[in-house]
Amino acid sequence: MKKLALHWQILLGMILGLIFGFLMTQISWGVGFVTDWIKPIGTIFIKLLKLIAIPLILASLIKGISDLKDISKFRNIGLRTIVIYVGTTIMAITIGLLLVNVMQPGDGVSEETIAKITATYADDSDVQSKIVEAGKQKESGPLQFLEDMVPDNAFNAMGDNSLMLQVIFFAIFLGISMLLIGEKRAKPLKNLFDSLNDVVLKMVDLIMLIAPVAVFALLANVVVSSGDPDLLLALLKYTGTVVIGLLLMIVFYLLIVGSYTKKNPFWFLKEISPAQLLAFSTSSSAATLPVTMERVEEHIGVDKEVSSFVLPVGATINMDGTSLYQAVAAVFISQALAFDLTFADQLTIVLTALLASIGSAAVPGAGMVMLVIVLESIGFPADRFPIALALIFAVDRPLDMCRTVVNVTGDATVSMIVAKSVGKLGKPRVEDWDEHYDEVK
Ligand code: ASP
Repeated sequence: MKKLALHWQILLGMILGLIFGFLMTQISWGVGFVTDWIKPIGTIFIKLLKLIAIPLILASLIKGISDLKDISKFRNIGLRTIVIYVGTTIMAITIGLLLVNVMQPGDGVSEETIAKITATYADDSDVQSKIVEAGKQKESGPLQFLEDMVPDNAFNAMGDNSLMLQVIFFAIFLGISMLLIGEKRAKPLKNLFDSLNDVVLKMVDLIMLIAPVAVFALLANVVVSSGDPDLLLALLKYTGTVVIGLLLMIVFYLLIVGSYTKKNPFWFLKEISPAQLLAFSTSSSAATLPVTMERVEEHIGVDKEVSSFVLPVGATINMDGTSLYQAVAAVFISQALAFDLTFADQLTIVLTALLASIGSAAVPGAGMVMLVIVLESIGFPADRFPIALALIFAVDRPLDMCRTVVNVTGDATVSMIVAKSVGKLGKPRVEDWDEHYDEVK
């Protein structure tokens, strides 16, 4: 019998996880059972993906750069990447702002709902911790992000997943220096990283063996830990606005894939789908990165010289879904809490949401922290932050799952565009037994 393709297996795992989670909420011991016995499988899976993220960035970026033979090529790729990333993010924010102004989701929220939401979430420790975290981010100066990008200790940087940009910096620095000392002298080091790269990609394959079961666990846990269904319903118009915006972004990506790279957009969607499904299940672009890289390189045909730079950088700084969400959320909150926004305020949102998406960490819930900074930029009163965040807290997790899909799809799309523009979009080269895991002995 032909084995079910990976994306179908993952999708099946997700659907069963949702059903199982729902059934468990109907049984008195169900929630405890999922938390104690099911959730750990999902957590282990995410840990495994994160475990290989740093070695993968290091190995693939060093391999990618040292394969270039010429530094000017790297400058070319780097510049295009950053410009296109900024362009797609501005597009996302614009779509979000247009939609939220047309649909006016905040006008439909009654006083009663606001009171109920405030009573439920305003003092929640999660809401409070996001405000505290945002306060820390805000205190930094305008060039802080550049300062933060440069590590003072390479091994410390590699020891902390949140310091991915530092690892990228170190890998680029090392790769360029390897180019400069010439092929012959760099050869031993290059062989080492080439081999490490192959091994880590194989680790991705092995981890993906448990993906269908892991997403089952992750989604079952999302269902049992989700909030009051009445509140979810009250926020339906807001959720709908964000989701429509995110769908429009996906359509936008498909249009550029079709028109610029001349590839079939549905083929692109199919090949990238395991990464999208994982982004949805884990809510983390960083955890999804190894799979995104594998799919983009092997199944779409983007050369490593491009993907090894574009994707890790994208996972950390390019978050189109997150910035769209921040724009919608900021205006929704202002509408619901009767805080008037001028046109200049909306322009401020474009700028701060762009910077916030660069500053957001690629982990669950990060977008909400940076939302506080967006709110602050439009002069939203700080004493009302708890109410503002409480308002959108109940639906943050499902929206986080959706926006992470867009974040990952955006990175994959841009890697294709950049590859095409520098003549590095080739034929897919799926490793022999990539999806024939029976051969893994
Ligand atoms: N979870 C998102 C990501 O990892 C970030 C966010 O929007 O919270 O891409």
